[in-house]
Amino acid sequence: MTVDEYAGLRFWKAVDDGTRTRTRERLTHVVDAHGDDLVATFYGAFLGHEEGRVFLKHSLVQQRLSHSMAGWLRRLAAIDPLGDLTEFVAVQMQIGAIHARMKVPDHLVHQGASLLKSRMASHLLADRGAGDDMASTLVMIDELVDFSICAMSKAYLSDARERAQVDEAFRHFSLGQDINLERETQRAALMEWSQEALFNLFGASEHDEPKKLGASAFGLWMRHRAGVLFQDSPSLAGIERVMAVVDDECLPAVAENRGGADALGRLKERIDEIDYLLNDMFQAAATLENGRDPLTRTLNRRFLPSVLGREIALAKSHGTPLSVALVDVDHFKRINDDYGHAAGDVALGHVADALMSAVRTSDFVFRYGGEEFLLVFAETDRDAAARMAERLRVTLSQKPLPVSDRDALRLTVSIGVAAFEGHPDYQYLVNNADSALYEAKRLGRDRVHVHEGAAREAALVRNFA
Ligand code: GH3
Ligand code: MG
Ligand code: MG
Repeated sequence: MTVDEYAGLRFWKAVDDGTRTRTRERLTHVVDAHGDDLVATFYGAFLGHEEGRVFLKHSLVQQRLSHSMAGWLRRLAAIDPLGDLTEFVAVQMQIGAIHARMKVPDHLVHQGASLLKSRMASHLLADRGAGDDMASTLVMIDELVDFSICAMSKAYLSDARERAQVDEAFRHFSLGQDINLERETQRAALMEWSQEALFNLFGASEHDEPKKLGASAFGLWMRHRAGVLFQDSPSLAGIERVMAVVDDECLPAVAENRGGADALGRLKERIDEIDYLLNDMFQAAATLENGRDPLTRTLNRRFLPSVLGREIALAKSHGTPLSVALVDVDHFKRINDDYGHAAGDVALGHVADALMSAVRTSDFVFRYGGEEFLLVFAETDRDAAARMAERLRVTLSQKPLPVSDRDALRLTVSIGVAAFEGHPDYQYLVNNADSALYEAKRLGRDRVHVHEGAAREAALVRNFA
């Protein structure tokens, strides 16, 4: 961030020289007289915060941080808003990058800054000498802290984003390694541990304590590899929980009561549970790996934000059109009710196949919901998208799906079309398609409805005014 990019310190730059000098003196006074209190207040709050405590546990961090916080306050008080701020900004950005490396949550930094502002203001208000400069000094504190935090945040975010991309790339790379082999290796490691544990419990050396699952090869893999591969998987958290139960409850119970069938049975149940969750976790990853919905082979909705975000960025930078269509099968519930859920699944596959074979290779077909699909038409304007949607509708209605030797099902769909009009939030575009779809349903189904768009609506309002 260059200094010019940031429109900070406006007020402080604009005041007369006398005020500027006096307010700086007041602030310097607050920082000099109450520096220790400011640092202590900050730590108090940080330590009182569950998330914050983790970062301050280390005494070295505490020492270094209180030293650097005192330095930061002094620098802040010494800043010359009319002078060259390049170095000051560079230092703030360095701090932001350090926060990102340490993974200090950004919101904690903002809370800390807010707290420091309040504390400085309290000291200032108690300072009888501030007199007429009180208000100006308060504004200046506000501007200075915001100026610094803004630079920190910018560095923090770009660092965090880069890190997330690298993490994601590594995850994909790791997943790309033979996932089935990895699964079998880990299941074998789990079984090996359980046999060894039982052997220790009941084998020759009765007094050997069994090795904990957390300390086994499987436990190591869980801590160091699985976290990267399966980041947010609920099964991962589940396995961690069950592992803790195994090590803290089941193993001691079996050891205490060697030969007791109950305790042993419970241990076995837990191991089976881990095995089950492990399988689940790998299966989900295998589906995610190619990004497709297993039933319809259309794209998983999880990727919609990145695909639409990218398409919108392309449309904006190249000035090309972009449209989306939301397709919903009509009266789908009846199909399930009349022919059964399995037939419903087949019907969904039928619709998905028709959609995927009709669109161009540069378009995207997502499974948006149960029986809803979102089509993303790259470089396609509203009229072309509407024609495309109409063609799809007709094709589907003319292609009945055989459900038995005698019966064929005539499926119809309703489609809402919307075109990109410059709004940077992709959800806005999807919402427009959704309201068009709602109209198509309301008008009797088996039809395409096109969202008119803001420009057309504005013109209509003008015409009627
Ligand atoms: P409408 O014309 O208003 O869209 O009526 P509808 O019956 O299609 O709409 P509704 O949203 O009431 O019902 C959608 C049904 O789709 C309900 C749900 O059971 C079914 N469904 C959702 N996902 C699946 C699936 O994966 N397989 C099957 N067989 N049915 C599904
Ligand atoms: Mg629906
Ligand atoms: Mg429907």
